[in-house]
Amino acid sequence: DFVVVNFYHFVFIQDPQAEVAKHRSFLELEGLDINGRVYLNEQGINAQYSGPSKDAMAYVNWLRKDNRFSNILVQISPSEKGHTFPILKLRYKSSLVQFEGGMSHLSFLDPSMRAMPITASDPLSNVDEEKANILMYCTGGICCDVYSTILRQQGFQNLYTLKGGVSHYLKNEVPAEWVGNLFVFDSRLSLPPSIYYTGATTQAESNPVSGDDNFAKCYVCSLKVSELRHRNCANLDCNLLFLCCRQCVEDLRGCCCLTCTTAPRRRPVLNGMQRYKKWHYYRDMDFQGKLKIST
Ligand SMILES: [Zn+2]
Ligand SMILES: [Zn+2]
Repeated sequence: DFVVVNFYHFVFIQDPQAEVAKHRSFLELEGLDINGRVYLNEQGINAQYSGPSKDAMAYVNWLRKDNRFSNILVQISPSEKGHTFPILKLRYKSSLVQFEGGMSHLSFLDPSMRAMPITASDPLSNVDEEKANILMYCTGGICCDVYSTILRQQGFQNLYTLKGGVSHYLKNEVPAEWVGNLFVFDSRLSLPPSIYYTGATTQAESNPVSGDDNFAKCYVCSLKVSELRHRNCANLDCNLLFLCCRQCVEDLRGCCCLTCTTAPRRRPVLNGMQRYKKWHYYRDMDFQGKLKIST
């Protein structure tokens, strides 16, 4: 029984390199089968990894013995097909979250932190910084923690974030009004909400969109898609992740646009639940030969 574990925690780490070494030696000593991303720096830790339930939890329990990490909020979801990450990347990273311009200059360790206002981003440029209530949500909570710090620096005062993100919300509230799946950042791509509150192992992709909302549109033709199945563009050099209706998948042979259908390095169209293999699998393929056959 494999699970995927997600957690992050902003806390001052005096010597992050030593912390990385400590984690590595624990994992090796215990022989834990863990794949994924575990990033540490002076500001804290951000981890997404997969592994057998026993191993995955052993790591969490070990970490929680440390006072700095004793109250981390951990998100766990099942993974039917084993590991969702190919390898373990456990290392120091200057930015725990990938944001434009990085985040190393932001002070997460002081929640009341307010600095010189920076240029307001477009959607909020006409919003009253003192009066507006802003509710933010994201998959696991970390993006909102980061972005609310940015907004606080800009002078916004009434900021609310969804604790633990959508995945924590789905686990703790019955998501009666939730439509569709939750996008996750590993090889499972998206999960139905039932995975979080019942631990059920329903296949995400076969979960039809419920409700009347026309929110999930085909990237190509803008028509409503009946199944939330993300796919990567068949053009290896594009690889765009997009939602596509069945007709457009057929018409564009798995590509995201007409231009991509004539690109030199096109992969075969995938059906059903399949995912493309790692890019290097296709690197040495005889793309030109395939092109001749298909035209
Ligand atoms: Zn379409
Ligand atoms: Zn494309």
